[in-house]
Amino acid sequence: MANTPYPESYYAASANAAPPRPALQEEVETDVCVIGAGYTGLSSALFLLENGFKVTVLEAAKVGFGASGRNGGQIVNSYSRDIDVIERTVGPKQAQLLGQMAFEGGRIIRERVAKYNIQCDLKDGGVFAAITAKQMGHLEAQKRLWERFGHTQLELMDQARIRQVVACDQYVGGMLDMSGGHIHPLNLALGEAAAVESLGGTIYEQSPAVRIERGASPVVHTPQGKVRAKFIIVAGNAYLGNLVPELAAKSMPCGTQVITTAPLGDALASSLLPQDYCVEDCNYLLDYYRLTADKRLVFGGGVVYGARDPANIEAIIRPKMLKAFPQLKDVKIDYAWTGNFLLTLSRLPQVGRLGDNIYYSQGCSGHGVTYTHLAGKVLAEALRGQAERFDAFADLPHYPFPGGQLLRTPFAALGAWYYGLRDKFGY
Ligand SMILES: Cc1cc2nc3c(=O)[nH]c(=O)nc-3n(C[C@H](O)[C@H](O)[C@H](O)COP(=O)(O)OP(=O)(O)OC[C@H]3O[C@@H](n4cnc5c(N)ncnc54)[C@H](O)[C@@H]3O)c2cc1C
Repeated sequence: MANTPYPESYYAASANAAPPRPALQEEVETDVCVIGAGYTGLSSALFLLENGFKVTVLEAAKVGFGASGRNGGQIVNSYSRDIDVIERTVGPKQAQLLGQMAFEGGRIIRERVAKYNIQCDLKDGGVFAAITAKQMGHLEAQKRLWERFGHTQLELMDQARIRQVVACDQYVGGMLDMSGGHIHPLNLALGEAAAVESLGGTIYEQSPAVRIERGASPVVHTPQGKVRAKFIIVAGNAYLGNLVPELAAKSMPCGTQVITTAPLGDALASSLLPQDYCVEDCNYLLDYYRLTADKRLVFGGGVVYGARDPANIEAIIRPKMLKAFPQLKDVKIDYAWTGNFLLTLSRLPQVGRLGDNIYYSQGCSGHGVTYTHLAGKVLAEALRGQAERFDAFADLPHYPFPGGQLLRTPFAALGAWYYGLRDKFGY
């Protein structure tokens, strides 16, 4: 049997202890079979268990093996496309609902951490850093927009003010969101998995769903077992492959890379980020970074369309880090890894139902730490018969990538190159 380990990331090296979770080797019956133990699957499982459902989670590798255990750890509110675009696409009523939900994921994370005592180094405060005056103008508009939907923990920063929170000379200003923040992402997933089990849920690792037998009482097959369920939640995101062909057509896995320095020591670490906020810049192909609890810098950036694993990640990301922080030129990189997120053409999440009983949420296109936690709640509401918020997501239109499965990667890369050039020349 395949035994897929975690990638060699800083997170895997500093993960909290977790119990062994055997592969499924029998036939079991449950109310809800969740496919995938990332944040989407775990958040769904937790909300369902809290509402009295019996839940079985199937994970192809290990809890948090996918993006949820590899990401930048940044709690970024809202969606990868903002609410004004949603408003123009689907109209004010649906946008109002989605806008109200845009900051809920961050609150869910904090509630989970407090309720289940999850040790994941949670810190408050996230910075959006503007490299150009035009980006600063966008942030000003974004603040007005978010405040219109009731999200108020925001502060615009001029050049002098942002220099007080991040020792990088590239920025003309920024916006601080105190309801943003950061976490050790794998430890958040592991803590949520423990919470699932504390409520009586079962998680099978090394148990990929290889086939779904659809129907009134659907069955999910793994290599050595099967789960008969009333409902299925598909939460495999960029790692799902072609298990559900309808979902693969309108999304594309993309890779993004992360490096982690050796420990910097207190003085150097706090000279870079004195308040320990996390930072992402406002470029289309953005850089994001933050400190860890043991004072390393985690720095991510870059996108590989089609999710091929680059050969030398340090060679791609280290120059970006040194551009932001030349003072780190002598610092060693201890870890480098890649992970996949799922891109949709609109960059909005793909949510819906296949038949009567197969639900899915995927494709939040980069910013997913908060959205996936919200998604779990919204999916659980739908299974309980309260579908208004689910429908607000499910009604978002989605289109196939130009060029189909074969040409979508070069077309998307071309689009990104164009936006990358615009960033470079400040358009
Ligand atoms: C490197 C990187 C950095 C990122 N940084 C940030 C960030 O700082 N902030 C932010 O907001 N977002 C970030 N993101 C995005 C965010 O991490 C994701 O949007 C989010 O974690 C997706 O969660 P998920 O549960 O939907 O998917 P995943 O976490 O990918 O989980 C899917 C799980 O399903 C399993 N699976 C797949 N197929 C099957 C199957 N057939 N049977 C059983 N199991 C299956 C996989 O093994 C995997 O564990 C980043 C993503 C990456 C890759």
